[in-house]
Amino acid sequence: MKYYGILMLGAPGSGKGTQAQILSKECNFSHISTGDILREEVSNSTELGKKAKVYMDEGKLVPDELLLEIVSSKIKNSERGYVLDGYPRNLNQALSLEKILSELNKPLNYAIYLDVPEEELITRLTLRRLCPKCGKIFHLKYFPPLKEKECDNCKNELIQREDDKKEVVLKRLEVFLNTTKPLIEFYEEKGILKHIVALGSVEDIRNQIMLILRCKEI
Ligand code: AMP
Repeated sequence: MKYYGILMLGAPGSGKGTQAQILSKECNFSHISTGDILREEVSNSTELGKKAKVYMDEGKLVPDELLLEIVSSKIKNSERGYVLDGYPRNLNQALSLEKILSELNKPLNYAIYLDVPEEELITRLTLRRLCPKCGKIFHLKYFPPLKEKECDNCKNELIQREDDKKEVVLKRLEVFLNTTKPLIEFYEEKGILKHIVALGSVEDIRNQIMLILRCKEI
């Protein structure tokens, strides 16, 4: 059976996390989300979490060396394939990743870029709300809770992620434009970039990705 190495590229709010999750689940790939890994470390107050929080709360990237080993070991342990979500975020990380992948002999097959206009990204992120108890995610415009500010499931008060606040969102988008977007050219030159205009429904984008990858019948 073919092994897949996939990388999701896109700004915060482009839906890459959602698509990475769907893809990994449907095709049994390891979903490697550095944002999720870091949030878990922060909520467990580990040494790594304490260091990372300072950067995350300001919308900045955490130092490269904090992530390399974790990403490397997750790729090493993946059996059917991996979907990288949120890594690499700059050229230095992309070069480190190349080195790891060649050592592990698990090359990237596709870099999928989910392209969403900035206005839409700001709407998606700043209106997102989260239930701190059950983790359910709402959106005040696209998927509002039945009762204002309250989780439909557990009736807990909804919160906004610190880094979804407008000033932090703008910083995250700036970091994406200046630091991560150049990676699109990097992977284009390698001949593995696939560009998707990611404005349709979750299902629609999922189908487009599946058509590209052909890892499963749709
Ligand atoms: P995300 O959920 O992917 O938007 O990540 C949330 C935050 O985690 C980012 O704003 C960064 O502070 C940090 N982060 C996630 N992935 C990386 C990475 N590859 N390099 C540096 N920082 C990262």
